[in-house]
Amino acid sequence: MNQGTWLQPRHGSREAFEKDYPKIEANGLDVTCPGCRDCARLTRRSPLGKIGGWCKRCNRGVGT
Ligand SMILES: [Zn+2]
Repeated sequence: MNQGTWLQPRHGSREAFEKDYPKIEANGLDVTCPGCRDCARLTRRSPLGKIGGWCKRCNRGVGT
């Protein structure tokens, strides 16, 4: 599994993240959360094509 990175800039909430990454990515991508090392599933995409997900444990956005 690839190592994920924090999304920059940091989103204040999951709602804010979902607004910036509005598209659902059907297949998704599994990476390692840089904080808790759990598997973070990246299932959303930004209008610019960046893929991202949300780690519930860290309450923070994760990308590639
Ligand atoms: Zn985490």
